[in-house]
Amino acid sequence: MTTLLIPRSLDVCPLCGGKLEYAPHPRCTACHETFEYDYNYKVFRNPNIVDISYRNPESSLLSNLFPHSFNIGNISFASMEAFLRSLCWNGDLEVIKNEFAPLFGVNAVNVKYVLPDWRENQALYYFGRKMERKGDFYKRVLEVAYGNLFTYSHLLRMALFKTKGKVLIHSIGKDNPQETLLTRNEFISNLNMLRERL
Ligand SMILES: [Zn+2]
Repeated sequence: MTTLLIPRSLDVCPLCGGKLEYAPHPRCTACHETFEYDYNYKVFRNPNIVDISYRNPESSLLSNLFPHSFNIGNISFASMEAFLRSLCWNGDLEVIKNEFAPLFGVNAVNVKYVLPDWRENQALYYFGRKMERKGDFYKRVLEVAYGNLFTYSHLLRMALFKTKGKVLIHSIGKDNPQETLLTRNEFISNLNMLRERL
């Protein structure tokens, strides 16, 4: 019999910040809530949380991979993931417009395998302007992008509204800004800011 492993990706209780025990599903030692791991969709489940993942039908619309189109400058992006990946490209804007911008789903993720590795010098490009991954300008670019996504996509607003009163999490996300274009905290805090506008 094979034992299915549960990823240890919840560090603390998403509801109260308390310590978790994995036995085998995480259980909070402070508020005693349990978080069931759903092997099919690779998300944690509890009535008070929404774990965002493209493959999870209930939270797919909140994923960066979902095809919500929105504009930045004069470019129409088919997904947030396409926009984020385009920031790794320091080349012709026509390539962004014609080839990055229409991508969504796993295709938008997979372009990373042909792009230069931004992690080597921690630099990204916004319409040709070089920016530091850890700088304030990059943070502002993310806020502008999520703001535009919110304005353009009625479906995103509906999906966010539906989660009101629940804690949004992204258990498969990463935390180190030197390794990811968007940390779990950057992702969730942008969504939380937008949800408060509803
Ligand atoms: Zn708790």
